[in-house]
Amino acid sequence: MEKLRFPFFSDAADRRPAVIAGPCSAETEEQTLDTARQLVAAGFRIFRAGLWKPRTKPGGFEGVGAAGIAWLQRVKRETGMYVATEVATREHVAAALEGGIDLLWIGARTSANPFAVQEIADALQVFGADIPVLVKNPVSPDLELWIGAIERLRNAGLSRLGAIHRGFTSAEKSVYRNLPMWSVPIELHRRMPQLPLFCDPSHIGGRRDAVAPLAQQAMDLGFDGLIVEAHAYPDAAWSDKEQQVTPLELAEICRRLVVREGAETTESLDSLRGEIDKLDDCLLDLLARRMHVARDIGRYKKEHAMPVLQAARYEALLARRVAQAEELGMDGGFMRRVLQAVHEESVRQQMEKLDE
Ligand code: PEP
Ligand code: MN
Repeated sequence: MEKLRFPFFSDAADRRPAVIAGPCSAETEEQTLDTARQLVAAGFRIFRAGLWKPRTKPGGFEGVGAAGIAWLQRVKRETGMYVATEVATREHVAAALEGGIDLLWIGARTSANPFAVQEIADALQVFGADIPVLVKNPVSPDLELWIGAIERLRNAGLSRLGAIHRGFTSAEKSVYRNLPMWSVPIELHRRMPQLPLFCDPSHIGGRRDAVAPLAQQAMDLGFDGLIVEAHAYPDAAWSDKEQQVTPLELAEICRRLVVREGAETTESLDSLRGEIDKLDDCLLDLLARRMHVARDIGRYKKEHAMPVLQAARYEALLARRVAQAEELGMDGGFMRRVLQAVHEESVRQQMEKLDE
């Protein structure tokens, strides 16, 4: 699959990210045009605006619908920008393609639904248009579902595909609106290295001040582009106002982004990687030894008719190790997850001994 080609934010080197910018929703013709004019003046070339807004609850602003197509056409005519919008049904696809929209994206609630994605893929196939389509991650961190959505579009003959990482819904309390869980898009990249990867720091962060650091993290991880919500008057936005920045603020955020050289590795990086490899060898060896001991414990417990799971001991052990990890400068939540995974596997191994 060829990588998507877009005009870049600046005329500088190719390694600047492609930036898609615009309001969460097209609200009025004036707001849409004002925002686009400010964006193009600040150097942006690809305009986004939601016309059909998937809202979690009824009663919110659900978008202006197909009426907004004419506003996007005006943006195109008057600013020369490419225009992008979200589609969720075959009717949206038809309206967007007939209206000359340049780029489509599939929202997080839609990409979680294979029926909806298939309907969109079928509608695109009927038109035979090889329009660029970016697929947001589904709301839950289900990589297979995300890949499945991309495959449905690819099977419908679309070749200019990309993915947007917009974070994941979680019951866990977080400073972000949606948990970034960077390991998921990183794994997507490993599985589909040709697929251009965009980051949506607006929907991950949910706050204006989170946009810049999240965009920088995406650059550090080698993302190809960004899709960011920008509004001419963010405080008056009809949807997602807490996370929208002005076009000028976005230009400043992009100007400050540090985009590092991609493929090159330096000698010191190679030596650090070598060190990581050696440490991973040690980790694996230690884990194998730990499992060996777990199996011995399983055998012992079996001989003495003892239960495998001793909850009180486990809880105490977990709390102690999490505290120890924090003292060592590691994240407690991370250590809890690691220990839980190790513990789960130890219990499984002990159970195997019991079954023998
Ligand atoms: C959007 O981009 O405006 C949007 C609705 O995003 P998401 O699907 O990521 O919630
Ligand atoms: Mn939004």
